[in-house]
Amino acid sequence: MALIVQKFGGTSVRDRTRIYNVARIIMQARAAGHQVVAVVSAQGDTTDDLIAKAAEISAHPSQREMDMLLATGEQITIALLTMALQELGVSAVSLTGWQAGFVTDRAYTKARIKRLDTERVESELARNRVVVVAGFQGLNRSEDITTLGRGGSDTSAVALAAALHADRCQIFTDVEGVFTADPRKIRRAKKLKDITFDEMLELATCGAQVLNNRSVELAKKYNVELEVLSSINPVPGTVVKEETDVEGMLIKGVAKDTNVAAVSILGVPDVPGMSFKVFGLLGQRNINVDIILQSTGRDGKKDLIFTVPRDDAENALAVLEANKARFGGGDISVETDIAKVSIVGAGMQSHAGVAAAMFEALAAQNINIQMISTSEIKISVIIEEKLADRAVAAIHDAFIH
Ligand code: ASP
Ligand code: MG
Repeated sequence: MALIVQKFGGTSVRDRTRIYNVARIIMQARAAGHQVVAVVSAQGDTTDDLIAKAAEISAHPSQREMDMLLATGEQITIALLTMALQELGVSAVSLTGWQAGFVTDRAYTKARIKRLDTERVESELARNRVVVVAGFQGLNRSEDITTLGRGGSDTSAVALAAALHADRCQIFTDVEGVFTADPRKIRRAKKLKDITFDEMLELATCGAQVLNNRSVELAKKYNVELEVLSSINPVPGTVVKEETDVEGMLIKGVAKDTNVAAVSILGVPDVPGMSFKVFGLLGQRNINVDIILQSTGRDGKKDLIFTVPRDDAENALAVLEANKARFGGGDISVETDIAKVSIVGAGMQSHAGVAAAMFEALAAQNINIQMISTSEIKISVIIEEKLADRAVAAIHDAFIH
């Protein structure tokens, strides 16, 4: 007998048919003799619909009330799924995030889990019940409802798997696993048998949206092996774990991220402390800087170019303009029609020529590279946004056969 945490995303529970489908998946695990904790998301587009409802009432709703509202989505699913299980003769009980013991910090709409008190879940399991838990939600120390940020149900599932020392954590979704590229765009994209936590994190931050980022961080921290698989098509999915076969694929994926903008500051004095002034200002405003380029100094001046999330570009420009006298008063501009295309793979650490092969694929398409950045397991380029899909296809062809 094993203890399995099974997480089901919004599309997997979107209507009556899908809810019964999920109930049957759980029933099968029970029939095989396992204990099951099911973590669920809100049905279909419920969370988006609730956000739209709030916007009808207020342009700047209180964050506390947003969480009060958003948490209702998951609460609907746990009740419906539990009813379906009971209808199939499976003993089950639903628990909200707080009943399941999720204690979070105070950061409404993007709370972090502080503690997980699993007594209630464990006592329900001991009574031989399937425990159906609402993902994405918890309670802060003032006993107010909080939510964990978009896609947060993945994090709830991983946290439960870690705290309960579950034998398996399965993330059921509407795709069959993690692919080498977006399968809707790249026909030859291949499903990966496995991928490391680090590779998955890099792919997630590069725009591949299969698993919520924080859930992968948590899985890495507590070494919770994850299996990403389809709730519709019962085929093996992708396993996310600490280490994979070193003789495996060199490149695990090609990803595109269009949430990027490049900020340029021209004529920054070429003296110590200037980068600190610029990036200190951005840091204070919680603006994440990704790739940074600086030209070599000439006549005591240099140029700084860096990328930020596109949603933050306006903010970045505003704060830099307001303080420009502190770093030379030169021209500041923002470019938004760019994209970041990245390849990820732990194999590149021990192979030469990976970057060259990527650049060759781009050159063959006559695509100009504006910026480059590398980490141990990732190479990213900034190119024109309208060329990004072509770039992904060309790079994918070059590496994945
Ligand atoms: N329902 C929430 C969302 O749509 C949480 C989740 O689905 O994981 O973001
Ligand atoms: Mg959702």
